[in-house]
Amino acid sequence: MQNLKDHLAKTLKDLRKSRGWSLDAAAAATGVSKAMLGQIERGESSPTTAVLWKLATGFQVSVSSLMEPLPELVAETLIRDAGTIRNIPGDKGMAVAPLFPFEARFGFDLMELTFLPGYERLSEPHEAGVIEHVTIISGAMEICTEGEWHPLTAGQSIRFRGDRPHGYRNRNEEKAVTLSVIHYPHRA
Ligand code: MN
Repeated sequence: MQNLKDHLAKTLKDLRKSRGWSLDAAAAATGVSKAMLGQIERGESSPTTAVLWKLATGFQVSVSSLMEPLPELVAETLIRDAGTIRNIPGDKGMAVAPLFPFEARFGFDLMELTFLPGYERLSEPHEAGVIEHVTIISGAMEICTEGEWHPLTAGQSIRFRGDRPHGYRNRNEEKAVTLSVIHYPHRA
């Protein structure tokens, strides 16, 4: 999606500058190749979910902050509409709506994650201490944690360590809509 590409291009450049990192240094910190970082900064590449997560982990920022500008978070009451903020990363099998992006005072991201039929992704561990909580709102899917795939249907929730290898897949004909709370206990 164009919004995502443009926002990420600017955010990545700003993050890299604020840290004083060269492309080489950013590649070393994130595990994303220098060539890919350059493409993203020029708005030439729609990053996959895996790349978004590598960037978030390497720069120690929330994945949602890479997807769209932070909302006016000072407001005590905040209404967010997933329909207007839903993004589709470059791997296209899923959609992400950062409902309440990470704020230090709360320590979590709340996202609507939609997994389309056929989607499967094994995730590398996120930063140390990250815990994910996923509630299935509609449809059904499986989440892999500690080497085991757990089938989940609407109404069920799972909590697992995001700092260990884990995975998401939807082998059904219908999309699976979930709410995901990602808690980052060690982030300032
Ligand atoms: Mn994850």
